[in-house]
Amino acid sequence: MPWNRPLIIGLLVVLLAISWWRLLPDDQEIRRSQLLMGTVVEIVVGGESSDKLEAAVDAAVAEMTRLDQLLSRHHQKSDLSRLSRSDTGTEVNVETAEVITLGLDVAQRSGGAFDLTLGRLKVLWGFDRENPTVPDQVALTAALEGIGPTALSLQGQEVNKRSLQLQVDLGGIAKGYAVDRAIAVLKEHGVTSAAVNAGGDMYLLGLHSELQGRPERPWRIGIQHPRHKETLLETVQVSDRAVVTSGDYERFFEEDGVRYHHIFDPQTGLPARGCQSVTIIADSVALADALATAVFVLGPAAGLQLLTQYPTAEGLVVAADGTLHSSSGWTNYRVTP
Ligand code: AMP
Ligand code: MG
Repeated sequence: MPWNRPLIIGLLVVLLAISWWRLLPDDQEIRRSQLLMGTVVEIVVGGESSDKLEAAVDAAVAEMTRLDQLLSRHHQKSDLSRLSRSDTGTEVNVETAEVITLGLDVAQRSGGAFDLTLGRLKVLWGFDRENPTVPDQVALTAALEGIGPTALSLQGQEVNKRSLQLQVDLGGIAKGYAVDRAIAVLKEHGVTSAAVNAGGDMYLLGLHSELQGRPERPWRIGIQHPRHKETLLETVQVSDRAVVTSGDYERFFEEDGVRYHHIFDPQTGLPARGCQSVTIIADSVALADALATAVFVLGPAAGLQLLTQYPTAEGLVVAADGTLHSSSGWTNYRVTP
């Protein structure tokens, strides 16, 4: 059949329309991965101008780098390092004070299951070292001496410790706080759709479209099965929410067939034994981060009970025996297959 002009023009119009539609200004997506705070941080942002998105991501990364320098014990001049060298009257930055305030609240409400004063215990176990081993009982007892929710206090931005040897560890909350700040910076730059993930501590801002041109919808997040890496336990759907998972599979070693992981029961100094993994959804990542660790230590029953004190928090727990437990509002996020 010979090509006729109206058909060719019609086809051209359709092709032009498709390419114009694919280049719509609000169709840009930028992804960045960066090693920060001892983990891989992934940032995804969507919006109209790639230049503006790049600038927003640069600013978010700069903010997380700044916080790492305040909150890490690996930086000589960090608030945390200064805090390790003195007992009373340490003046800290406002961000550090904010992290400690939230951490102390979760510590107190969880009856000490969440504990910011486990610094010596953390160093003793040495999960950051090449070959961590189980410490002996004498060393464990010494590392637990004087710890607890009342061992640390804050007046304004001044931190006081019960003793000089007490060491603060913000490992259960600092990453979450940094993700909150990264999201705040992205928002300041006009970003309305973003995902920031710092090694399992995530915030999902606004809506996004999975493929270019597809309608926007809430973010869908797969929750990893704690014993089968390739399997998803569940998928949740969220917008403007934090999703944080603490698991015994993240950092662990095995000795004599026993798994030793990095979330400690402050009562014993040993890895907490009630759960395999805990996922918390809440309105801030710092809160979800602290609660994931706290619920992990408390176990499913007391852990889900703790969540009732936090109106925005919901949780999914895989207990040590593999059974699933969730808070009453969890179903609002669950994507039914
Ligand atoms: P996460 O992966 O958020 O559960 O945090 C684990 C990290 O939190 C560990 O590497 C420690 O630095 C710290 N941590 C371990 N046990 C506790 C606890 N009971 N309370 C507060 N922080 C803890
Ligand atoms: Mg945590």
